[in-house]
Amino acid sequence: MTTLFTNVRIFDGTPHASRAGSVLVEGNRIARVVYGDDPITAPAAAQVIDGGGRTLMPGMVEAHCHLTWGSSVEQIYHAFILPPEELDTAATRNARVLLDHGFTSLWSAGALGDGIETRLAARIAAGEVPGGRLIPSTLERSPEGDEGVDTGDVFNGRGPEAMRAFMAYCAAEGVRAVKLVVSGESALKPGSHVDLLYTPEEMDAAREAAAEHGLWISCHAYTDAAVDLALRAGARIIYHASYIGEATIARLAALKDSVFYAPGCGVSIAALEASPPPHIDMSAMKHSAAERMELERVLVPRLKAAGVRVLIGGDYGFPFNPNGRNARDLAHFVEHFGFSPVEALAAATSLGGQLTGQQVGEVREGWLADLLLVDGDPTADVTILQDRNRLSAIMLDGRLHKLALPVAA
Ligand SMILES: [Zn+2]
Repeated sequence: MTTLFTNVRIFDGTPHASRAGSVLVEGNRIARVVYGDDPITAPAAAQVIDGGGRTLMPGMVEAHCHLTWGSSVEQIYHAFILPPEELDTAATRNARVLLDHGFTSLWSAGALGDGIETRLAARIAAGEVPGGRLIPSTLERSPEGDEGVDTGDVFNGRGPEAMRAFMAYCAAEGVRAVKLVVSGESALKPGSHVDLLYTPEEMDAAREAAAEHGLWISCHAYTDAAVDLALRAGARIIYHASYIGEATIARLAALKDSVFYAPGCGVSIAALEASPPPHIDMSAMKHSAAERMELERVLVPRLKAAGVRVLIGGDYGFPFNPNGRNARDLAHFVEHFGFSPVEALAAATSLGGQLTGQQVGEVREGWLADLLLVDGDPTADVTILQDRNRLSAIMLDGRLHKLALPVAA
């Protein structure tokens, strides 16, 4: 299939203004990008989409995705842990919901069931179910004991050998990004964000085993000591880091070419906004969220200024923060972290694409054709990306998942 987008403003994924132009897609790749008013001549048999001045941009990358956190804008679950069959159904639905909302790549930050995401990633890749490119994970690993974040006990166990066994298991299953919960979680257990759930020896074992098996590691880490452990494990991405100080900021800045960072503010803002019914106590969650946002309002702009790649993704999947609202993170970056709209868009596209190690997140010749045609100008107002009706076209791997415009043959 060959598709020509004409009469569009192109936001190419880098933090620069959009420009008028046209884009040709051949097969699953972007074949040509031409700026200026002279459009590309449509090859024979191309379908031509006249963008009417709409914005063509890369599909978005969710860098902290939880497909098995069941709730979405289409269906809310009040139970956090679902029965296995429902978990499968919810994860499959959520992959499609995210694609419907413009997310064409998903970096999983952990699952609530073993094997669900690797099976789902295979089904998506085979075209059996709709969804973005999924980097699958497995159960978020925290060691046994009640100090941990309880996300399942299957792989618990202490010591370097248990860690090596876990990594080997994940690799055999087809996991690509292993999630290690290094810090406790004060939103669930007050005060526990200072707890460290791993030893240096376990993290060394994680690094060695991950390298041996070709696995990436994502870490949930709040404090200096936790980020130190995450870096010791060779983490590719660090989530939260809300409580770190000067020395750790400097360390992350020095590692800016190899480590990514995602604050995960979506869940914090949503927790602060939520007004739960009387029988649901969100006070710990709200307190933790307020504290983290206060710190991150200072921290995140500093990390960005130091050149650290800051990505969107905010623990969507709770009833008060359902999957499908993920594009809110862009607006949060603008409102709370001082990002310009194009910087927030770059965080959601080119920088996220770099995390996945694939040629995605940019409108660039030769790169994979994951594209959004947006009714309006997200480089002026990122909030329009929260409205799926503004997505006139969603292209994944050169194929139109959605087209709400007429086509000229
Ligand atoms: Zn998470």
